[in-house]
Amino acid sequence: MSIARITLFRQWQPFRDGTYRCSGGRSAEGFDSTIVEVIATDGTAGYGEMAPLGSFYDPAFAEGARGAMRELAPRLIGQPAGGIDALNRRMDLLLKGHPYAKSAIDMALWDLAGRRSGLSLATMTGGAEGDSVPLYRSIAQEAPAAMAARAQKYIAEGYRRLQVKVGLDVREDIERLEAVRAAVPSDTVLFCDANASWGTAETRQFLSATRSIDYVLEQPCATYEENLAIRSACDRPLVLDETIDSVNTLLRALADSLADGVTIKLARVGGLTMTRLIRDIAAARNLKITIEDTGGAQIDTAAYFGLMLSTPQELRQHTVDFHNWVTVANARAAFTIANGKMCLPTAPGLGVEVDRMALGEPMFSAG
Ligand SMILES: [Mg+2]
Repeated sequence: MSIARITLFRQWQPFRDGTYRCSGGRSAEGFDSTIVEVIATDGTAGYGEMAPLGSFYDPAFAEGARGAMRELAPRLIGQPAGGIDALNRRMDLLLKGHPYAKSAIDMALWDLAGRRSGLSLATMTGGAEGDSVPLYRSIAQEAPAAMAARAQKYIAEGYRRLQVKVGLDVREDIERLEAVRAAVPSDTVLFCDANASWGTAETRQFLSATRSIDYVLEQPCATYEENLAIRSACDRPLVLDETIDSVNTLLRALADSLADGVTIKLARVGGLTMTRLIRDIAAARNLKITIEDTGGAQIDTAAYFGLMLSTPQELRQHTVDFHNWVTVANARAAFTIANGKMCLPTAPGLGVEVDRMALGEPMFSAG
């Protein structure tokens, strides 16, 4: 059974809550998603999705992903569809770098393997523990009062874990955290995510002014060295997100005892295969683990949900319901959310039924 055809689709996914802002004036109106369909010689189809957050968040952009996929797709036709590791090595041989472009193809191969074997992604990646994963909702940057109001809205919607976007003027950031903390129930779990926007001075200032508040700090600075420099001043859990772009950065962070947790994004590291490897190494050292992505709708959410479900329960931090951020759908999926946790009934592969009509006309096809 080999790969017979690979087809690309584009889906624009506008944000339900309007413009999404993060530090430095960066913003996006929606996700520019690329969906990959891989069809095997026996007619089975698998689907994958990749959507960057604008072109400013990671070293990735939507047209770059599609350009790279056009390069790769014709050269994967005829290859054995079940050899996912071998196909990843082949993609790395054919195209150096560009992990975000390989992510959707890798995801489609896992979906295909699951549909052919009748196994869910969680089963194939280690076995599901429980049936739900805690969710967080991020509060985009606004004035402190507006962010507090947004936090209350998300609490009313059932979220119990909030990510406060900081990383602008540090005095205002302190007010942002104080305003949100005061506006939500005391058992709400808060993460402060600076998205790599502070220097070490701002980070120290923030840490010292917020000592009495209970929160987890996420990716304060951009470079590995800056984060290492502030580690000794950080008396609370430190999670790395943007820094974790490969196995190597994780190994380095483990050697330096730099992180208490990691956020692994499928597109950043190259897909489910590489995320699973990074997750397993992180789990071996008992780091707290978040698996998610840079964007997308039902297909993408189902993929990182499946890998979260096979992550040891006591190490799971949370994940995100990106399909609820956008006004369009790309698959029928029985996601349910209750008490701040998301469920998706187990089914082969990613466990969603892709809505081919919602994808529109193909952009490109090989095979
Ligand atoms: Mg983050």
